[in-house]
Amino acid sequence: MAPPTTEQLFLQLPEYRVIVGRKCQHAIQPTKIVTHLRHPNHRIPTLDAQYIQYTVSTWQGFVQEPQGLIFPHSVIYPIPGLAVYTDGLSCTVLENCDYVCRSIDSIRKHIKVEHNLGLNPHGRPPQCELPILHELQAECMQRVTYQRLFLSRKGSYYIYVRQPPDNQ
Ligand SMILES: [Zn+2]
Ligand SMILES: [Zn+2]
Repeated sequence: MAPPTTEQLFLQLPEYRVIVGRKCQHAIQPTKIVTHLRHPNHRIPTLDAQYIQYTVSTWQGFVQEPQGLIFPHSVIYPIPGLAVYTDGLSCTVLENCDYVCRSIDSIRKHIKVEHNLGLNPHGRPPQCELPILHELQAECMQRVTYQRLFLSRKGSYYIYVRQPPDNQ
């Protein structure tokens, strides 16, 4: 069987200066393509993978390292090619606060630290205040859809998708 072509494997997103794996639905560093394609997800032989990485290296204008890139914190419509996740939590304290995360603890911390909303700003609130505090905080968050460009720690963060596919 002929190996897949580079275009079949990767989508170019010049607007964000990244390439996205069509199958894995996240951005991949051009220099990590051989490693990526040899992974059990793809099982592409080394020589083919090296050729594909070489082809990508001839594409102009794509960043080699995700560090230092500035990505949007929110988009209106999903970025093409990236997986769409629906288990995000976003902050609703301010309309322009695009903070999105996945864990209730992270958003509680954000609400407390960034917006100074906590019954007891100094240290942990007493046990008896926790239910009221959590109820107040629950009004400051909502379930949202998000995407991520890179999955590795350094270029990974949550991009809030304001118009998820279902609402279009
Ligand atoms: Zn992949
Ligand atoms: Zn916020």
